Amino acid sequence: MKYIDEFRNPKIAHKLVDEITRKVSREWTMMEICGGQTHTLVRYGFEEMLPKQINLVHGPGCPVCVTPLEVVDKAIEIASMPDVIFVSYGDMLRVPGSQKDLFHVKADGGDVRVVYTPMEAVKLAKANPEKKVVFFGIGFETTAPPHAMAVLAAKREGLKNFYLLASHVLVPPAIRTLLDAPNNCVQAFIAPGHVCTVVGFDQYESLAKKYKVPIVVAGFEPLDLLEAIHMLVMQLEEGRCEVQNQYARSVTRYGNLPAQRAVEEVFEVCDRKWRGIGEIPLSGMRIREEFAAFDAERVFGLEDRTVEESKECIAAQVLMGLKKPLDCPAFGTRCKPEMPLGAPMVSPEGACSAYYQYKRHLAPSALPVDTHVGTD
Ligand code: SF4
Repeated sequence: MKYIDEFRNPKIAHKLVDEITRKVSREWTMMEICGGQTHTLVRYGFEEMLPKQINLVHGPGCPVCVTPLEVVDKAIEIASMPDVIFVSYGDMLRVPGSQKDLFHVKADGGDVRVVYTPMEAVKLAKANPEKKVVFFGIGFETTAPPHAMAVLAAKREGLKNFYLLASHVLVPPAIRTLLDAPNNCVQAFIAPGHVCTVVGFDQYESLAKKYKVPIVVAGFEPLDLLEAIHMLVMQLEEGRCEVQNQYARSVTRYGNLPAQRAVEEVFEVCDRKWRGIGEIPLSGMRIREEFAAFDAERVFGLEDRTVEESKECIAAQVLMGLKKPLDCPAFGTRCKPEMPLGAPMVSPEGACSAYYQYKRHLAPSALPVDTHVGTD
């Protein structure tokens, strides 16, 4: 597996861990933003491997986890309409809305389909002119370009039955919100490599400067992340606060300019609510007025709503790095992937799902419910 094995070499990994152990002189808390990176860290046992002074907390970079409950409810409402083909990435189907999820809509006879790319939804619209085809477009800066390109393709094709239900969020405003929080404990960030592949890393430099916080852009393989942690430890120990690019094989300072142009053409920046966290100013993207005919929110005239989150789920604190999944009393008992209370347990990129897959054995709350009663 050339190009993979090189980034999973155990000898180099141990060397990096040794170097980190030698350098670290006190406790440091660092956060990886991206859910994909969380899965690598948990899967490869970084917490057990690294010195105890390195506290890894997990950030809000799981697109499924931060999509607001209200938007999931809107998706469910549209998908339940009789003349609609509702198209989504697979991981959104099990995300609980306030009453049910998209799987339930499908089981009740709704035409809900899973695709890998939004262009498949455009093709469906072309092949089914009598139906309204609605694509559920969620995600960070990474998925915005293909979603924008789907809208541009639908426009080019003259389609009148393709719509995008868009819920996009941006990483830098979320980092700002975390750092502005009075209880923030994060001292350094691993920035998401794939987001930076699209948008570059120059916008992270003002954050590093203003908040005096080291940031390293990293990839997703174990050695990418170990190297990023090593770079962060060096910065922290030496009192430097810079943006460094560990993922230079994919990321450049200014990113993918054609992709950015497509996004700019179709979307504009707006305030956006993040599930569990709340509204973050200028942290989202919505479809521009010129493309209103493709905007599912406008076309289907869905009203804005406020919906209560599960009181038991501590996803907000997990997404802000204040708690870890094993701190959640519901973890592994009342909340499991097959009956999730919150989105971080549903999404393959969610921190709770990563802990459930790889660290369940460490959770006192993961004992069978009846054994656990009375032991608290
Ligand atoms: S374990 Fe479940 S209930 Fe607890 S924070 Fe995670 S998703 Fe929410």
